Amino acid sequence: MITDSAAAAATVTAEEPLAGLNPAQREAVLHYEGPMLILAGAGSGKTRVLTARIARLIEHHGVDPARILAVTFTNKAAGEMRERIGRLLGEEPKGMWCGTFHAIGARMLRGAARFVGRTASFTIYDEDDTLAVIRRLMEAEGISPKQWSPKVISGLISDAKNSLVAPAEYDTLSKDPLSKAAGAVYRRLEPAMRAANALSFDDLLVLPVEILRGNPSMLATYRERFQFILVDEYQDTNRAQFQFIKLLGGGHGNVVVVGDDDQSIYGWRGADIRNILDFEKEFASARLVRLEENYRSTPNILSVANAAISPNVGRRGKVLRPTRAAGECVTLVAALDERDEAEWVLAEINGRRSKENRGLADFAVLYRTNAQSRALEDALRKEAVPYRLVGAVRFYDRREIRDLMAYLKLIANPSDEEAFRRAVSVPKRGVGDTTVDALAALGREAGMTLFEVASRPELLESMRGAARKALADFTGLVSDLREKAKDTSVDVVIQDLISALRYVEYLQAEGPESARDRIENLSSLINGAAETVVDDGGEVGLTPLDHFLQRAMLVAGADALDPSADAVTLMTLHNAKGLEYPVIFLTGMEDGLFPLAQSFDDPPKLEEERRLFYVGITRAEEKLFLSFTETRRRNGETLPSIRSRFLADIAAEKIEEKKTLRVTSMGRRSYTRESGGYNSGAFPARRQHEVPSWRKTAAMEADISQDEPRYVKGERVKHKLFGEGAIAELAGVGREVKAVIDFDDVTVGRKTIKLAYTTLERGQD
Ligand code: ATP
Ligand code: MG
Repeated sequence: MITDSAAAAATVTAEEPLAGLNPAQREAVLHYEGPMLILAGAGSGKTRVLTARIARLIEHHGVDPARILAVTFTNKAAGEMRERIGRLLGEEPKGMWCGTFHAIGARMLRGAARFVGRTASFTIYDEDDTLAVIRRLMEAEGISPKQWSPKVISGLISDAKNSLVAPAEYDTLSKDPLSKAAGAVYRRLEPAMRAANALSFDDLLVLPVEILRGNPSMLATYRERFQFILVDEYQDTNRAQFQFIKLLGGGHGNVVVVGDDDQSIYGWRGADIRNILDFEKEFASARLVRLEENYRSTPNILSVANAAISPNVGRRGKVLRPTRAAGECVTLVAALDERDEAEWVLAEINGRRSKENRGLADFAVLYRTNAQSRALEDALRKEAVPYRLVGAVRFYDRREIRDLMAYLKLIANPSDEEAFRRAVSVPKRGVGDTTVDALAALGREAGMTLFEVASRPELLESMRGAARKALADFTGLVSDLREKAKDTSVDVVIQDLISALRYVEYLQAEGPESARDRIENLSSLINGAAETVVDDGGEVGLTPLDHFLQRAMLVAGADALDPSADAVTLMTLHNAKGLEYPVIFLTGMEDGLFPLAQSFDDPPKLEEERRLFYVGITRAEEKLFLSFTETRRRNGETLPSIRSRFLADIAAEKIEEKKTLRVTSMGRRSYTRESGGYNSGAFPARRQHEVPSWRKTAAMEADISQDEPRYVKGERVKHKLFGEGAIAELAGVGREVKAVIDFDDVTVGRKTIKLAYTTLERGQD
């Protein structure tokens, strides 16, 4: 009997963990101690079972939440799991560790930092920071970044770490010059990171394993603490993560893992499907549970998913029965280009919002590479539709965009102090914080803004000559552009600004890899500026620049979305794992983009791309759209597209084919014609066909995917037929990049190979 009113309230709101579960799900939730492996297809309730099981452990078995460790794949998934458990229990589970491997590793390291030579206040370096350290170490080792790309070296080190190969072992394994170079950097990396009291992302996985392995007392403490361990998306764990689980769960064996071999999509990052087999070995008594009902998607969507994955060989066969009514059929849409595709997505969302009374949160747009978000973001921004970009930095939050926006704001409004501070500090011109503080002090005395003081040489006599000169140049530039902005369109002002600052060179000096994406973003900013002006025809009383800034700020306001706000979700397929939405748009179904070109003649890679396709399809609950374009702009070039080969695999399914209005009304032929209505609209013809000259130098390298490092001259590679060799020459742009390779086998000799259509293995022993 319940006497306590709080408890009564709790029982009323709590859902029953076992309610509505099918027999197999129930069995998995009721399982108490000992290892268990749940292997089941998409949408079969694996995550739901995991969540219900945690609630059951706490509620029924009285397990203290602090004794539970739940590993999820994204922070978002961790948040959702907590919330759901909260609903099942009627209260937040206090003290439970629930997060990604990285988050859990970081938490553990905060308490055990001294074991790895850090203090609890260590810094976590992102990929750019880590790359900068690697670049510095390469320099110290006399390894030229021209010879070996720092990103390639960083990738090799990361692979080694994730496979738990320590520097000494790596050294003995490396025989070719590239791995030797990586080995030399790897050796120095840990001491350098220690000295900076810093950790890389990889360290968050590797160092906890090191601590648990090397300190029996720590191991005992953590084993005692985590009595129950649960892992979602187990198919995507790598060796380091497997070891972590094995070490922690090895004593009591209360380890439950759930996964789907058809959804393993992180092989390129070291995820190891062997972990499923090894689980059954390591935890020999493990119970195996299969879930065979799909609760998420309509049968129409499911049969497309099954057709998409079926060409993969070596799958563990699985049954997946739909439980929902047939629903709408899947729609395949042909668009003219990425802009047309984005506008079609937006129109479809708007149409369904009103017709079907849906919220924006019902829609998710998925794509293979991050670069594809720009066209979509532009379309959504133009109509001020709120969106959430998962796992990537939103356009206006990107550093290079913030830098240039600071200049534009200062040009429009000389008293903007924040803008002054940011602008004056990039690129570095010898005006540091002390100088700016001195300016501020002078300004207070004289009742002037920072910009006014900085523009008056006579007030700056107390300063160093170099700082005075730098300030004069800076204020001169801003004033000139202010003059110019009165009657010039904003895209031109931005282009002038970029060249006056030598901003592209500035980005390139930080390294060609990170510069490429950033430069591409500058180009988007210019395109966006050109569009704003044309679209709105200018607004009375506002200069084009004021108008542009006003619009951008409104968008930036929407950027600071509160997490519960209704918004469309944009994300890469990789980020979509485990999530579900009523309506899914899977865009960019084009060969070379999805699947990526590198996978064309590499069967394991192609299978991984296919699993990614399966993941994408199975995110949809009620309606799935697939789309491809006739041409797409990639790395500064407009290239004709070819339909994805994956579409052929699902051709026999019930799929409705459609064309966007532009494809129907104009067709491909008029696309390049100036007379076409398409180019006369808000989309200046110049942009479509020309690349601003300042971009030509930088961005036009052979980037087929952003997930894969590009090749460098001198790099060792292995070709399927011709064996190992070294790259002697690289030429061409985009899909046309060719490598001249000197193969070791003298009967093969020198060959020229088109990279877009070949996969080379790199870094051979
Ligand atoms: P994925 O492989 O994509 O991660 P999953 O196997 O983890 O999928 P869940 O996300 O747990 O699947 O479940 C898919 C959907 O089905 C969820 O909306 C969930 O609430 C619902 N669901 C799961 N089991 C049942 C059930 N027995 N009855 C009704 N709905 C269910
Ligand atoms: Mg799941």
